[in-house]
Amino acid sequence: MTKAFAVPLIDLAAETAAVRPELDAAIASVLDRGWFILGDAVARFEEQFAQFCGARYAVGVASGLAALELSLRACDVGPGDEVVTAANTFMGTVLAILHVGATPVLVDPHPESFNVDVAAVEAAITRRTRAILPVHLYGQPAEMDALRSLADRHGLRVIEDACQAHGAAYAGQSVGTFGAAGCFSFYPTKNLGALGDGGAVVTDDPVVRDRLVSLRNYGEARKNVIATAGYNERLDTLQAAILSAKLPRLTAWNNARARHAALYDALLADAPIARPAALGKRTHVWHLYVIRAPRRDELAAFLSQRGIITGIHYPLPVHRHPMFADSPLAAQRFPVAERLSGEILSLPLFPTLCREQIEHVAACVNEFFGVSPKPAEPAAVESAAAT
Ligand SMILES: *Cc1c(COP(=O)(O)O)cnc(C)c1O
Repeated sequence: MTKAFAVPLIDLAAETAAVRPELDAAIASVLDRGWFILGDAVARFEEQFAQFCGARYAVGVASGLAALELSLRACDVGPGDEVVTAANTFMGTVLAILHVGATPVLVDPHPESFNVDVAAVEAAITRRTRAILPVHLYGQPAEMDALRSLADRHGLRVIEDACQAHGAAYAGQSVGTFGAAGCFSFYPTKNLGALGDGGAVVTDDPVVRDRLVSLRNYGEARKNVIATAGYNERLDTLQAAILSAKLPRLTAWNNARARHAALYDALLADAPIARPAALGKRTHVWHLYVIRAPRRDELAAFLSQRGIITGIHYPLPVHRHPMFADSPLAAQRFPVAERLSGEILSLPLFPTLCREQIEHVAACVNEFFGVSPKPAEPAAVESAAAT
């Protein structure tokens, strides 16, 4: 029997402790300044985040959902328009499409990458399609060269849901910069997380940028003059200062996630599970380490008894949510998304995870499947970690 000790799914207290002095200083500077809405701290973070992504502009908003909704509006997506997105995404992606009055058109994922299947996206395009909304799910970029050329051929906007993929890249280019707008969330558990809600949109298009700046602030054209029915969806000044303090750690944290994923890969090589595929051309930032496992629910319970917390991202494919009970979506079939939702399991993965914790998790997974524990070849771990 393996040694039992608790492994949480994520550990935000440890991540916060690692950067605590910088956070305390950032918070103190905002309190001292006494300016709590927009202002310098937001502008400074926007500049830093745009630079991090290799984009011309970033606009800070209140959440990932706000980033998506405001981006769709800034790109003139609205009633009568169809937006093609992933059937296995987080519901926030789909809610944003519904909130602007457009119609979500779902497509099945590729069973290995968990990202949208490009052929399925092409098949879903109609004369009403206005935009493609790819999701870089779990931190792995969607196939952006194929999606980009598909969008160009059909005259469609591309709006990326990069809420799980800060720092991920496709063929060396940062996600979020392939289309009209790239949407990020700074929900605390994301690769870059605030101490509360936050989000941002990156774009190279000055028109989209100006519209976002207006839409997040009631639709103001200038102070007290409203040009369009906007929102109160600004990034908090305090959260912007906190994000500026954490951003310099992001690359090291993403690298730590990749090392942990490589160690899981090596230790779980003999288990009868499908491990996540890190496909060519893609820099995966491992927001989540998602396996496909037979007897998934039994495995999760077995791990839970040993103090290991796991997650399911997500237990329901989009079209199976009760909110669609009376919608034509409920009658549609997405066989890959439906099968995945019953097989996927997210193992603990966060930057401060230690080797003993990963070994404990892997040993328990192997024990569940009756696989004899085999220490990873150091060489295999090294080479996997290098990719
Ligand atoms: C987290 C997330 C969102 C929503 O972000 P919030 O900041 O929680 O509103 C949208 N899409 C995906 C894929 C996400 O993971």
